[in-house]
Amino acid sequence: MQIIVLKEVEPSESRVALIPESVKKLVAMNVSVAVESSAGLESGAGDAEYNAAGATVSPDRAALLESADLLVTVNRPAARDIARMKRGSVVIGFLRPLDEPEKLSVMMKRGITAFAMELIPRTTRAQSMDALSSMATIMGYKAVLLAASHVPRMFPMLTTAAGTVPPAKVLVLGAGVAGLQAIATARRLGAVVEGFDVRSAAGEAVRSLGAKFLDVDLGGLQTEDAGGYAREVTEEVMQRSRELIARQAKQIDCIITSAQVPGKAAPLLITEDAVAGMRRGTVVVDLAGSTGGNCALSKPGQTHVINGVTINCPLNLAASVPVHASQLYARNVVSFLSLMIKDGSLNLDFSDDIIGPSCAVHQSEAKHPRILAALAGK
Ligand code: NAD
Repeated sequence: MQIIVLKEVEPSESRVALIPESVKKLVAMNVSVAVESSAGLESGAGDAEYNAAGATVSPDRAALLESADLLVTVNRPAARDIARMKRGSVVIGFLRPLDEPEKLSVMMKRGITAFAMELIPRTTRAQSMDALSSMATIMGYKAVLLAASHVPRMFPMLTTAAGTVPPAKVLVLGAGVAGLQAIATARRLGAVVEGFDVRSAAGEAVRSLGAKFLDVDLGGLQTEDAGGYAREVTEEVMQRSRELIARQAKQIDCIITSAQVPGKAAPLLITEDAVAGMRRGTVVVDLAGSTGGNCALSKPGQTHVINGVTINCPLNLAASVPVHASQLYARNVVSFLSLMIKDGSLNLDFSDDIIGPSCAVHQSEAKHPRILAALAGK
């Protein structure tokens, strides 16, 4: 069986799907791995290292695609690449199956079986395959560094001969994996931190990191689904949340937002009025830009300043730390592949409680209930 890794083509992408360490593990499972020349350069993995790990390296992207039984990728492959793949071959990567379900049709038409890393269940058994958590961890960390580099203050409290400097105040909206990492990073830098999430269960995690949890009256609403994800909440709860955040934001130096509801537009938590009420020098880093953003004034992919407030809405922040992002992603992928590779061949057991649910497209159909629901909602 031939597994291939290509150089990612999206302009902002610096990650690679497999690193030499993972090639070694796959070769030990009796499969062959072929890598497009310079695919890993930005992640610190040169062609010679892939060769040494047991991969063949080739500059011929078209030939690689034609030979592939399995393409492991970071981002959803372009239609022109899919068109070169064999019918019945397999793609694994971040495919945005819930945000852009209609884009899966190219793979359906080609008879590709596609597994989305986003659909891997958040269960204990699948923990080592949880690429969403790996990337969110990096995003939360890097968001704080971005905020710290834009804010005209220092984070830690310092007592100097020239007097005392108070610590920065940081507010983190959305206390999932990215938000909790942002809280931990801001605390490490010495900031005073507050966290907010619509799932009250997140309160304990926020407090355990030494931050204060902002409570909003949820009116008895069930805000968490069976998978641990947030549900979309009522407009009344959203309004109460926005008012609480706007009040709080008046005395905050940095706000990191990471609130998401899978398959939906990001909830709007910071209104234009809330930004108008912020002090000059306040920095907002909005991590929800790929689904529209949590701040009304965010411009996905851009940083801009309004009345002295910097609003930064980076897209693909994980790619700004390519070495570790690729390392973690590749380990998640190899862990997932080890469920599927038996005696050097692919053995897709759809009754497996990880393989089945993470399949986005098989035999020209999208069967996953969340994708079907997302398609129906579009
Ligand atoms: P996510 O990226 O889907 O969302 C980020 C956060 O935004 C979530 O905490 C969510 O509750 C919050 N949010 C949504 N709407 C909001 C609103 N209106 N206001 C404020 N906050 C809002 O989340 P994620 O980081 O992918 O984590 C999702 C869940 O999965 C969490 O409960 C997390 O603890 C859990 N999880 C479990 C495992 C595991 O058991 N293996 C691994 C990772 C995550």
